[in-house]
Amino acid sequence: LRQSLVKAEKLEAVEQMGAAISHEIRNPLTSAMGFVQLLEDDQLDLDKRNQYLAILKEELQSAENVIKDYLTFSKPTIECVEVFQVEEELNQILKLLQPSANWNSVKVVSDYNSLNYIQGDCQKFHQCFVNVIKNAIESMPNGGTLSVSSQSNSTHVTIKIQDTGVGMTKEQIERLGEPYYSTKGDKGTGLGVMVANSIVKAMNGTIQVKSKVGAGTIFTFNFQLYT
Ligand code: ADP
Ligand code: MG
Repeated sequence: LRQSLVKAEKLEAVEQMGAAISHEIRNPLTSAMGFVQLLEDDQLDLDKRNQYLAILKEELQSAENVIKDYLTFSKPTIECVEVFQVEEELNQILKLLQPSANWNSVKVVSDYNSLNYIQGDCQKFHQCFVNVIKNAIESMPNGGTLSVSSQSNSTHVTIKIQDTGVGMTKEQIERLGEPYYSTKGDKGTGLGVMVANSIVKAMNGTIQVKSKVGAGTIFTFNFQLYT
């Protein structure tokens, strides 16, 4: 009896997770489908076509990210430890998110003082910064500037992600990282910051947030350098 109870509980957890995932990947998939339909128009000029393809790619990536966030959530251990170059990774993410920056008329600026190496799970680092940089871009629906910088001393590298977006109230900052906490309604999952937090923690890093309503937000990360 006990075993079948445990089984039933597990099944329920799986069902809940399934419902949550399907709800949250429906948005990017619906949007992707919309762009596929736009792309079916053979009169479409090349510029538009490329623009739509870039967005399509990003929407699919976004659906994949929801799944990744759920997996990290249910299995938050660092599995693959390697040494990687911080700025190279950040540049890759900026390239990936350039279409949504364009879409929001966001100017992207990066400023690296040097090339820094850290040790950890490179894919999870990537996921963490995709989540944070995506939030920064989404906070500037009417345009603004996204600044990504790195600065190091002899032991640590500091990464700053700064936006000139809507900012957050004190209460919003306090609730940041709470599972499912989102101010984006149907467009948000409220998992991004929580997952970013758990990744940074697993890498022995730190996060600080400074924000002002109407002015913008700065996320500051610290990681130990690999030497
Ligand atoms: P989601 O983006 O799906 O809403 P997140 O966990 O990524 O979930 O973020 C949670 C909430 O934190 C957001 O809904 C938003 O209110 C707030 N937030 C996070 N980053 C920023 C930012 N750069 N500027 C303003 N608000 C932010
Ligand atoms: Mg988010």
